Amino acid sequence: MNIILVGEPNIGKSTLLTKAISKLDQSQYKFQGVLSHEIKDGNQVRKGFIATTSSNISKTFAHKTEIESNLVVGEYKIDNQAIKDTFIYQINKFLQSQDEFFYLDEIGRIQVASIEFRNTYPKLLIDPRSLIATVSNDEPWTKDLTGRLNSFVINVNVMNRDILLDILVSIMKGVHYTHTLNEDQIYYLIQKAQFYLDINNPTLIQYLFERSIKYLIEKRFKYISEDEIMVQGDGDNHRILIIKEGQYVCDCNFFNGRNEFDGQYGDCPHIQTLRLNKLSKS
Ligand SMILES: [Zn+2]
Repeated sequence: MNIILVGEPNIGKSTLLTKAISKLDQSQYKFQGVLSHEIKDGNQVRKGFIATTSSNISKTFAHKTEIESNLVVGEYKIDNQAIKDTFIYQINKFLQSQDEFFYLDEIGRIQVASIEFRNTYPKLLIDPRSLIATVSNDEPWTKDLTGRLNSFVINVNVMNRDILLDILVSIMKGVHYTHTLNEDQIYYLIQKAQFYLDINNPTLIQYLFERSIKYLIEKRFKYISEDEIMVQGDGDNHRILIIKEGQYVCDCNFFNGRNEFDGQYGDCPHIQTLRLNKLSKS
């Protein structure tokens, strides 16, 4: 499952990704990636770009004046060796590792000008592990990233970029479970997450990624009788009654008129676990 952050240039996609990465405990979650940052002069005028890898390598890969190169995009001269030493090096290292996801900021015009970059980043899209990438919405290759069935597309704008931080952190915490899911389960997850994003409910996305997938992978459910299932939550165990095919009622405090979630759309994490399980290939 790939998470693609799309938006206008300079809307804050990079800032969002950088903040989310810094909130994840590196000893608990195994991931690699590359961030791109702007280099500005004393008058806040953009002069170039620097890439920083999760292996702590930082290199200027594009600059208006300080790089000599025949590879040029707009006003920027590009140091292809710096792209190889950062982006390409880290992507290849990840592909050979057992780590859980890769973040890539960004798949932009300057990066794509490098043949090596163009040939290497698509390997991340085919890898079953997740890619979390930023891209501007008007690039020729954007549709190839966002149009995939296993892409969860998040449109970043001035209205939502602040609430997206917690959502992105939740997704990063849960996304390492998703490479064991089948296509139908991934599609279900993306549809659900997209809907929760649309109705502006970060809590539900958090439960989906931090609980439901985990409960499924850890097989935290068992049939007590033909129409009754017990799900072991992070807090309590919950009893779920099967009313009829695909219709469940859970005894937890979600969506059943007993608390703040009363009247809201969606399933509790326990019912979501069962829905994901129904999509398992037997
Ligand atoms: Zn429940």
